Amino acid sequence: MTQPSTPAHSPVLVWVMGAAGAPADGSEPFRLGKADEPQLLVTDLVATRGDGVFETIGVFDGTPVNLDPHLRRLARSAELVELPALDLTVLAQAVQAAIDAHAPVPELTVRVMVTRGVEGSGTPTAWIHARTAEDWSRCREGIAVVTLDRGLSTPVPRPSPWLLPGAKTLSYAVNMAATREAVRRGADDVLFVSTDGYCLEGPTSTLLVQHGDTWTTTPADAGVLPGTSIASVFEVLRAEGATVREELMTPDQVASADAAWLLSSSRLAAPIARLDDTRLTVDAHRTAQLISVLKGQYPGSR
Ligand code: PLP
Repeated sequence: MTQPSTPAHSPVLVWVMGAAGAPADGSEPFRLGKADEPQLLVTDLVATRGDGVFETIGVFDGTPVNLDPHLRRLARSAELVELPALDLTVLAQAVQAAIDAHAPVPELTVRVMVTRGVEGSGTPTAWIHARTAEDWSRCREGIAVVTLDRGLSTPVPRPSPWLLPGAKTLSYAVNMAATREAVRRGADDVLFVSTDGYCLEGPTSTLLVQHGDTWTTTPADAGVLPGTSIASVFEVLRAEGATVREELMTPDQVASADAAWLLSSSRLAAPIARLDDTRLTVDAHRTAQLISVLKGQYPGSR
């Protein structure tokens, strides 16, 4: 996987939220800070417990893609971890301000972070940070993926909501450890597999599998994050008359597909060129089409 070069950063927009969603001190809803100056207190529960939620939004030629779905998913994640309701209007303004504060670049990655705030304060902290996206060009040509056991069965998330299925929390250390394991095994990325033998998702991506005119992803109730990218792709495929479905798939079913991808908002569509020891066909034409959908630039897509 391409390692980040030193990216250009925008200032950080810091929003400290009061209980009812209003700014905690009654002043401006957010302020501009510098990314290379201290902004967070060491007592913030995100620093001590990883207790918070986030979103990563892709911005292409200055336009954020799927902003509303991302903010709605953030609100849903906040609800799942029992944070106060978020003011999505303020957050949308702050995202735009972060984009405006950054030098214009073709691909920008904007992170929206909301934490439980300083321990005992009851007031969440939020910040938004825009940075030049990593260079994902090599991944968009094809990636080697290894399957790794996630240690959970597909029915487990339903009776165990404390596992926070479907929430994008800031506790991504396990996901990052899995990615390092993939690199140790000579691969670029991971496809998590459940203990009952089904493919789930990548540590930062959603699985998309093509068999002829049928396109399949993992059902959200298997404990995966409902992706904004897969929603956009399915909308376009459905409009083209293809069959799209959410169904559990085994690694063998993915390995025997016509093509498969890992989708996400910043890297976009990364075609799976190898799954464990099996080579898959990389469909460069389809990949380019998927990338244009995910950049919000495909005719008919949002
Ligand atoms: N699954 C996980 C665990 C993720 O972290 C992500 C994105 O970061 C995705 C799926 C893909 O989500 P989206 O398409 O909304 O970027």
